[in-house]
Amino acid sequence: MKLYDTMAREMRELTAEDGESFRFYCCGPTVYGPAHIGNFRTFVLQDVFRRVLQLSGQKTQHVRNITDVDDKTIRDSRAADKSLTEFTEAWTVKFRADCEALNLLAPHDEPSAVAHIPQQVALIEELMEKGHAYQSEDRSVYFKVTSFESYGCLSHLDQRELRAGGSEGSAAVADDEYEKDAVADFALWKARKEEDGENFWPSPWGEGRPGWHLECSAMCREYLGDTFDLHSGGVDLVFPHHENEIAQSEAASGKTFARHWFHITHLMVDGGKMSKSLGNMYTLADLQERGFTANELRYVLISGHYRHPLNFTLQSMADAKKALLRIAKAGQALLQRAGKREQATGEGDCEADILQHDFVYFKSAYQSLLQDLNTPEALGRIFSELRELKVDQLRAEQALEAWSDLKWILLALGLSFPQVEEKAGVEVPAEISELAEQRWQAKQAKEWAQSDALRDKLLEKGWEVKDGKDGYELCPRN
Ligand code: AMP
Ligand code: ZN
Repeated sequence: MKLYDTMAREMRELTAEDGESFRFYCCGPTVYGPAHIGNFRTFVLQDVFRRVLQLSGQKTQHVRNITDVDDKTIRDSRAADKSLTEFTEAWTVKFRADCEALNLLAPHDEPSAVAHIPQQVALIEELMEKGHAYQSEDRSVYFKVTSFESYGCLSHLDQRELRAGGSEGSAAVADDEYEKDAVADFALWKARKEEDGENFWPSPWGEGRPGWHLECSAMCREYLGDTFDLHSGGVDLVFPHHENEIAQSEAASGKTFARHWFHITHLMVDGGKMSKSLGNMYTLADLQERGFTANELRYVLISGHYRHPLNFTLQSMADAKKALLRIAKAGQALLQRAGKREQATGEGDCEADILQHDFVYFKSAYQSLLQDLNTPEALGRIFSELRELKVDQLRAEQALEAWSDLKWILLALGLSFPQVEEKAGVEVPAEISELAEQRWQAKQAKEWAQSDALRDKLLEKGWEVKDGKDGYELCPRN
């Protein structure tokens, strides 16, 4: 598989250093609220990446942490008058439920930052011994950026800027997320402050808590060793987070940290940035309330290439619904041609071990994935092949093979077949689907009179609507 490397700024073939398992680390969610669909663009793409690797016969070890101590989790747990643990555990549970709904394979390891404070303290001690860290007058411990020669190598920072900043004490920042391009010594250990409340731990430098960047370095080392195959996150993490991780880890170990860097470009909403104040920060639950499914969101999130910004709109969700239905109908036609009576329904495969598969049909779509994880091209190729397949000319065993390969390519993308709105071979007329869709939207908007009127109209036309948790089903009236 080939993937663009942020550090080398070129496409590179991926290899497992130990020849056995491809070991990679993804920065996980900060659990202080529900993850939004932007976060999930990153997590879904990392998931497709892992599926494609596994389908090519490569074993993987996937580590994704839980950021359960940082400036934001502490601030918001205190505002909610809850202990940090109680607060972050509840959001972790919610995050895992969303991941499951979105058909994300569970990481092999999911370390919590709070559970690894001793490893973080040990890493700082090592950096102190090697002259890369110092305790400042504010009692916090900082990484001395000028002591690490290749600082800035990932984000390709201007060297002049580097020399200007980072002199001991003067340009030190304690914030986890500081301004882009502000090259400064960053906090490894933050001395206890009143606003931290009960959230502090002992250390050789006094009570305090770890800096966010340090947490990931320590967890990478604990689960993957000094060097591992790939590190990933959204593009906002390139600087300062990943730059700082490299500095801490390589200054301590003297070895290359991650051999490959994979960054996912941000998701935009309605052409702009997502933000709470603009009211356009969607979560999975927000979309489900509007009658969409997690499978449809997953489709939208992979419909753009990870190296380009992707613009999310509600219309793109409606288009995904239709596209998935087209796939499901094509699957159904193949199944019928193969002489099978089963329904092409989605299994929502969440097995941790997807095995190697050789494609006969949909091979070109799979190749798009092997070539820089080109998910939109893969989707395009699935549709072209479905259009070109002359199902009624296939022999039963060919139809069965095409059906099986269609399932495999969807497995690579992590998509499920939606329920085809058909009962006993009855096709739902477009007018009926339209009315049913309007009724569902009215129901979501709590316009009860309108929704009831549409239900009656459907009944008059011979169709009954049955509502489920995430959507509805249409059945012809007997
Ligand atoms: P956080 O929970 O903020 O630590 O972020 C979790 C992951 O989501 C990180 O890899 C971020 O880079 C990524 N992320 C945050 N916002 C977006 C966005 N709008 N689009 C894509 N990825 C994002
Ligand atoms: Zn991280």
